Amino acid sequence: MITFEREYLLMNLIPTREEIREVAEQIRPSIEKIAVKKGWVLNENKDVTDSTIEGLARNKLVYGKRFCPCRRPTGDAEADKIYLCPCRDSAADIEAFGHCHCHLYFKKQ
Ligand code: SF4
Repeated sequence: MITFEREYLLMNLIPTREEIREVAEQIRPSIEKIAVKKGWVLNENKDVTDSTIEGLARNKLVYGKRFCPCRRPTGDAEADKIYLCPCRDSAADIEAFGHCHCHLYFKKQ
């Protein structure tokens, strides 16, 4: 069982592939739920979806929160809130471009 703490950062550890995959599977249902709740869909390209969810899982392990895989948290908890997935700009991006910045969530056709 993995604990979502900041030991990775404090001890300068890099999560293993297995740890990332384990956490990715733990968080996947809530990512799918968010899509349903917001009226979005996940990217049909499973490789992109899987790697983005793994990026979120990695950030959960390293930083303790599901920060966007395309951003680097600054360490300022208040400022970094905008990068928590689904990020601040996701709804506007999905409306304007059909998908979020990471191509995880898409507009429903
Ligand atoms: S760009 Fe997409 S994957 Fe990244 S935080 Fe925003 S909603 Fe999540």
